Amino acid sequence: MKPYTYFISDLHLSAQRPDITACLASFLSDQALGADALYVLGDLFEYWIGDDDRNEFSEHVASLFKQFSQTGVPIYFIHGNRDFLIREKFARRAGMTILNQQHVIDLYGTPTLLMHGDELCTLDLAYQKFRKKARGWWWPRMILNLPLWVRRKIAEKGRKTSQQNQQKLSMEIMDVTSAEVVNYMQEYNVQQLIHGHTHRPAIHQLEVNSKPALRIVLGDWYDQGSMLKITPKSIDLISADLTTPP
Ligand code: MN
Repeated sequence: MKPYTYFISDLHLSAQRPDITACLASFLSDQALGADALYVLGDLFEYWIGDDDRNEFSEHVASLFKQFSQTGVPIYFIHGNRDFLIREKFARRAGMTILNQQHVIDLYGTPTLLMHGDELCTLDLAYQKFRKKARGWWWPRMILNLPLWVRRKIAEKGRKTSQQNQQKLSMEIMDVTSAEVVNYMQEYNVQQLIHGHTHRPAIHQLEVNSKPALRIVLGDWYDQGSMLKITPKSIDLISADLTTPP
């Protein structure tokens, strides 16, 4: 079989949507089998309040990934803006490796920068301020020390506020800032970038360092069934039909 690598992001899994978790289970026991690697580029969960919030749902998701990793496919994870509190304990249970928020891989000879993509939306100043705090050292530590029920309340409140904010923000503010894309690609010296977060699947051609470059954007999983399959010769941004029960 030809070598290939899969990328998914923005699954937004939750106990309330068993259907999309079932689609993940079917993907992991079918198309993804035999891949060179699987990259989950953030927002795997609708929200995550700590690895100690162990319940039937989170254990089930962990076991799906764990079983998949045991077939020999390495799983890599980059935090999203909803699950940046995922730590080593969960990663170990799920058989995945957590990468830095920006990470360069050699993708069949093409150096490729991977990220969730929220760091590219720099016009949303309020969010970027929160992001700085949330990805720092003291805020997550403080939050993770609170009792689970308090964290759950904070997460629910945060989701409501962010929904209200998103309604107020223009489409432009919620998309990536082009100059920021180029900055990151120059900083990491790459001509290829893969990210999610915006839920706007597309393959954009651009110019970085006066050379042609690609920005591949994954869509979401829970609505668009978006997945990206890359082989040494092809880039396939797929929209799977999630309505057919697996
Ligand atoms: Mn996101």
